[in-house]
Amino acid sequence: MSELMIKPYSELSGEEAKAEYEAVEKKYQEIKAKGLKLDMSRGKPSKQQLDMVSDILTVLQKPEDCYDGKIDARNYGNLDGLPCCRAYWADVLGCKPEEVFAGGNSSLSLMYDIISKACTHGLLHSEKPWLKEEGLKFLCPSPGYDRHFAITQTFGLELVTIDMTENGPDMDQVEEAVKDPKVKGIWCVPKYSNPTGIIYSEETIKRIASLKPAAPDFTVMWDNAYSIHEFDGDYIPFPDILGIARECGNPDMFYEFASTSKMTLPGAGISCFACSVDNMNYLKSLITVQSISYDKTNQLRHVKYLKDKENSLALMKKHAAIMSPKFHAVLDALDSEIKPRGLGSWTVPKGGYFISFDCPDGLAKRTWNLCKEAGVVMTTAGATFPYGKDPRDRTLRIAHSLPPVEELKEAIQVFCVCLRLAALEKMVK
Ligand code: PLP
Repeated sequence: MSELMIKPYSELSGEEAKAEYEAVEKKYQEIKAKGLKLDMSRGKPSKQQLDMVSDILTVLQKPEDCYDGKIDARNYGNLDGLPCCRAYWADVLGCKPEEVFAGGNSSLSLMYDIISKACTHGLLHSEKPWLKEEGLKFLCPSPGYDRHFAITQTFGLELVTIDMTENGPDMDQVEEAVKDPKVKGIWCVPKYSNPTGIIYSEETIKRIASLKPAAPDFTVMWDNAYSIHEFDGDYIPFPDILGIARECGNPDMFYEFASTSKMTLPGAGISCFACSVDNMNYLKSLITVQSISYDKTNQLRHVKYLKDKENSLALMKKHAAIMSPKFHAVLDALDSEIKPRGLGSWTVPKGGYFISFDCPDGLAKRTWNLCKEAGVVMTTAGATFPYGKDPRDRTLRIAHSLPPVEELKEAIQVFCVCLRLAALEKMVK
């Protein structure tokens, strides 16, 4: 069929569907025969992005380079991080330096650590460690980030699905859920949410900050992983959640997280959490048992390289120049191959690392499998829902950052063919 003649699949007659099925099946077999190996599974920066920032590796050359004022970054001490690093994150997140704990290479580890401590020791307002309570639950706005859900699952908390809207978690559901004292917290990615790419609205943020949960130690895991990660258009300012929480009478309810994983080198960057000073003092009393200090030389290297928020935003523009053509390659393919056939809808974010794609109900797993057999790896269907179970079997996460543009174009074409085949199989069989 030529482009002009493309009909929505719902309008195909039985015979047209059969002919289309045969043509698409043939196309699929041709693709399979190519033995492709393409990866759209995880939000990793590309080699081009890593090469662009690799001069960070040579920032600290001599012993004299290793000081933050009088503090020798090479030695033990400063559990909560180098002052310059705490100030850097405060600048990026809009909070105060004393609210920042500058950590190691992974914000996910810090998140794990806080949930782990909640379980073993309890948090500041806990009546007892979570592991001493039965039947605890955690709210998981979905589709969401599979690794968040896995953290609370691994500690035995029940994962409660909250629907994601274009303004953030469905707040009516959240407000209802927190009336249950067993509900201990919620996962949030407030800007360029993983995977939908939406930004929480002002109203949603206010409603979260104003929650009156039954659990005294209800915890908002505010993962601001993509706080300055626009790949299209200008930087969109985002409010300081700790200040808002204070104004709303919930100063200790939020733990905010960020890292440089998508700014410099993932796995070799720096991370932080930010929280009230009371929370900070309590957590430090626990963390001091587990570590003498984090890698301050890497903190210093990063601050010397990234300097401040303004300079980091300039670097993010360079990342955007690499990311944006990939994002548009995906959108162009979906617009020309999927839209006219009426086979799904997708988000069009301006930042972050993902596009979330919804196919017609019941087609996600089959499409994922067809892609896999054709050599295109995508995030497992269902992974963005608690327990890996998408109730409507319709959501797939497209991660477009890693492959070079030409490979990505090929991968997304394969995806389109697989989705068409999955839809036609249902219609024909
Ligand atoms: N949080 C979100 C929302 C992510 O998407 C990712 C990685 O994709 C991470 C955290 C991982 O962060 P880090 O590398 O700092 O552990």
